[in-house]
Amino acid sequence: MAGDRAESCSFCGKPAAQAGKLIAGPAGVGICDACVSTCGRLLDREKSRDGKPSAPAGGPAMQEAPAKPPLAPIKLIPPTQLRLELDAHVIGQAHAKKVLSVAVFNHYKRLNDRHTQATAAQAGDLADVELDKSNVLLIGPTGTGKTLLARSLARMLDVPFAIADATTLTEAGYVGDDVETVILRLLQSADMDVERAQRGIVFIDEIDKIGRKSDSASITRDVSGEGVQQALLKLLEGTVCNVPPAGGRKHPEQQCIRVDTADILFICGGAFAGLDRIIARRGGAKSLGFVPPQNDKPSLSAEQIVAGLQPEDLFSFGMIPEFVGRLPVISVLEPLDREALIRILTEPRNAATKQYRKLFALSGMTLEFSRESLEAAADKALALGTGARGLRSVLEGVLLDAMYALPEAAPGSKFTVTAEAIRGEKPVTVAAPKKKAS
Ligand code: ADP
Repeated sequence: MAGDRAESCSFCGKPAAQAGKLIAGPAGVGICDACVSTCGRLLDREKSRDGKPSAPAGGPAMQEAPAKPPLAPIKLIPPTQLRLELDAHVIGQAHAKKVLSVAVFNHYKRLNDRHTQATAAQAGDLADVELDKSNVLLIGPTGTGKTLLARSLARMLDVPFAIADATTLTEAGYVGDDVETVILRLLQSADMDVERAQRGIVFIDEIDKIGRKSDSASITRDVSGEGVQQALLKLLEGTVCNVPPAGGRKHPEQQCIRVDTADILFICGGAFAGLDRIIARRGGAKSLGFVPPQNDKPSLSAEQIVAGLQPEDLFSFGMIPEFVGRLPVISVLEPLDREALIRILTEPRNAATKQYRKLFALSGMTLEFSRESLEAAADKALALGTGARGLRSVLEGVLLDAMYALPEAAPGSKFTVTAEAIRGEKPVTVAAPKKKAS
């Protein structure tokens, strides 16, 4: 409505409350400070590139040129060091850590090679060889650390990071999000800085849920399955895509931001439930000495699954060959057992028990967990079947009453979480500090 105040940035969609400043234009239109800066930078760059203003008034002012800006090389961290850092955040998953450390090291080595001449001399007679992109597929049950691994790596390398859920995407022109929204998230994580976003990491979860719906030709288009895989193909391989700054659906008159995805590392994650059985059942697997699956127990280790995996196994989940081909680096995460869950509660730098202890300490209280309480919490999380994801909600539920009453507790009180408290049989015990004898 004309005269309305802008409630969000018309460019990036950020709500007024989250924007530092929102400059209002007519008819409810507004632009946030971050987008103003981005526009300023783009115009400056255009001017300095050819000595003339970029676009005529009313033209596509937000158009980013695909030409590569001079990038400072990314500081390469050797795989062994990446692995050590990952150990501080992620429990277990040795195979995935090693594979990812190498993949990330190689990815950024390739990126530096594409953008700086410094490495050409080192390559010698291989200087003309172009390095292919190595996107990664992480296979493993929910809550086993796929997202955590990807996020931790992005933090270590100080590159933008975005998470997307493949099931919310649809082929362009249909209800749902276009695949470009994945890149928009990355742009937002880079404060709309296109250059930074172009060297970021994207994690696409639930990739096994966008399988082709059926092998037989159907009257209805498979817009959320094969259609999405087809649309993602180009992004994964590297293309200059047009990202609508306000997200959602693209339309012809919209001004878009152009982002080159050639250097974006895509890590796809999916459970691919039953994959171990498919591999174990195959004749070839038996000859490798794989034990046939029993009950619900995982029949194969991560290494065995990776060793026995063939592309056709992923095709049976509806993944199209071209898509699988864009994910040449594959690793498998193991389901987390009771001991791993206990370690997750206490060992990582930001382990849940450490976080709650800090929350209590900030109120001048002490919080302790008995060993049995950790075992009971792990058992409860195992029963939930959501991996380590369930641990936090178990503790949150148990500590709710204690945290509710925390400000009224006697200063210096000691709270102890017992196994009974975890099982809901008794409340968390509280002991007021002993009075000093006068
Ligand atoms: P997913 O495999 O479904 O992507 P996430 O990485 O999102 O799982 O894990 C959910 C949460 O569980 C994480 O934020 C983290 O706190 C915890 N978690 C999962 N796996 C691990 C692990 N191997 N080591 C430490 N924490 C973990």
